[in-house]
Amino acid sequence: MTKVIGLTGGIGSGKSTVSQCLAELGAVIIDADKVGHEAFKPDTEAWHEVVATFGRQILTPTGEVDRKKLGEIVFNNPEALLRLNQIMHPKMRDMMKSQIEDYRRQGVDVVVLEAAVLIEANWTSLVDEVWVTVASEATVLERLKKQRGLDEGQTLARIRSQISSEERAKQADVVINNDGDLDEVKTKVRELWARLQA
Ligand code: ATP
Repeated sequence: MTKVIGLTGGIGSGKSTVSQCLAELGAVIIDADKVGHEAFKPDTEAWHEVVATFGRQILTPTGEVDRKKLGEIVFNNPEALLRLNQIMHPKMRDMMKSQIEDYRRQGVDVVVLEAAVLIEANWTSLVDEVWVTVASEATVLERLKKQRGLDEGQTLARIRSQISSEERAKQADVVINNDGDLDEVKTKVRELWARLQA
């Protein structure tokens, strides 16, 4: 029977690192970010709704939704973010649900749904287990400064705009602490994988 894991966590906490490790072990990954991309391709229902709501200024010259421009509009504007989520989340949910059903039919062992907003969007009902990556604020600040050139203020603003690690942990079946080095987190993921196979 297919096991579906919902993987979530705060910005820079290690979701992609963990999902990459799970992919190497044999899991199939559904990346909610990519699904979002897919969902508002030109001329889809979501694309029309997003353009009607935010105007053509959020489009690139070729008519794609410019995620950076859209991000700038909704960041620091909770009402705009809510409207965007109301358009996108139900459509993304339908797409992910049907992908999961396909994988179940194909008899895939482990499917990982990686989604930063798994809990906020109420997508936990799509999965069998919720895994949460957690790293301290200091760790995230240091990593994102080094790897993405984000300064402390930018990272903190993003952390503050999300639900807290404590809130996520409350909903979690598994909490993966990622304050250690890469070897440590990979070892933990391998242990969790072994438990899934047992
Ligand atoms: P986002 O929410 O921004 O997509 P994320 O939760 O997917 O982030 P990652 O991209 O996995 O987080 O990790 C953030 C950065 O920290 C990456 O550059 C990654 O390579 C690095 N990183 C993750 N875990 C570790 C670790 N244990 N040791 C060192 N660097 C790490």
